[in-house]
Amino acid sequence: MNIVVVGADGRMGRMLVAEIAATEGCRLSGATDREGSPAIGQDPGVLAGIGETGLKIIEDPAPVIAQADAVIDFTSPAATVNHARLCAQAGAALVAGTTGMSHSDEEALYLAARHIPVVYAANYSVGITLLTNLVQKAAATLGDDYDIEVLEMHHRHKVDAPSGTALALGKAAARGRKVNHDAVKQAVRDGHTGARPKGEIGYATLRGGDVVGEHDVIFAAEGERLILGHKASARRVFAAGAVRAALWTKGKHPGVYDMNDVLGLKDHEAEVITEAERHG
Ligand code: NAD
Repeated sequence: MNIVVVGADGRMGRMLVAEIAATEGCRLSGATDREGSPAIGQDPGVLAGIGETGLKIIEDPAPVIAQADAVIDFTSPAATVNHARLCAQAGAALVAGTTGMSHSDEEALYLAARHIPVVYAANYSVGITLLTNLVQKAAATLGDDYDIEVLEMHHRHKVDAPSGTALALGKAAARGRKVNHDAVKQAVRDGHTGARPKGEIGYATLRGGDVVGEHDVIFAAEGERLILGHKASARRVFAAGAVRAALWTKGKHPGVYDMNDVLGLKDHEAEVITEAERHG
């Protein structure tokens, strides 16, 4: 399988270049980065620390996407929207890892998914995929006597908050409770906030240092607290999941998929409710 990495000079892009080289059944067929990036013209393998690949990082994604079987995209929302359009035109599958996407950005993924398989996940680690399912189950079992708070910490360079993974965990909790996530989400508390409303799903965001990604979902009641958590200590887990997702797209019908599909854990009920959420 020919895989293109867009944003190949990024923290994730470099990991992906190395992971593709180490994975059987695929090869890096192209690498891009943003206009004006100092990485343009450089060999993506050298940047990734795996030696020369013979490729050069280029600015214009169109020619390499046209030749690709799959594109892996961990860049920025505006770039991912553009890449989704190009993938749909070229018939290349898209594995999208970018977070901080607005509803209208996500709409571009759904449009592209009419023509190609699109895997879209806020977190490509196997552990977080399982955690998301456990959170949904815990929220369904515990009911709204348990206050739900999602606590996350990431490195100082992260630009969106709460993290896409924290939001995905909160949405899983909302699905478990059968409530609309956006109606109960509370991402900002400052000043005289008053008492905590029942049913709220709260978020707390920490940023600092080189933390790869830590998430705790806390279910707090009178007398007990249940804490379900995950700590990522290496970005490689996300890259490995994304390359696995790219290989999995081979022969798949157009549509939007997530890591539950890739790992064979699909919860049909969860998918139906996600679709309902999407329409408000
Ligand atoms: P980064 O800033 O290190 O890398 C982003 C790269 O994309 C940079 O090299 C940048 O120049 C490039 N880029 C920006 N616009 C571009 C364009 N138009 N065309 C081509 N390249 C472009 O960031 P990062 O830490 O690698 O994270 C990237 C994204 O992936 C973020 O949204 C982050 O939250 C997300 N992420 C997701 C997961 C997951 O599992 N889903 C895991 C880690 C990070």
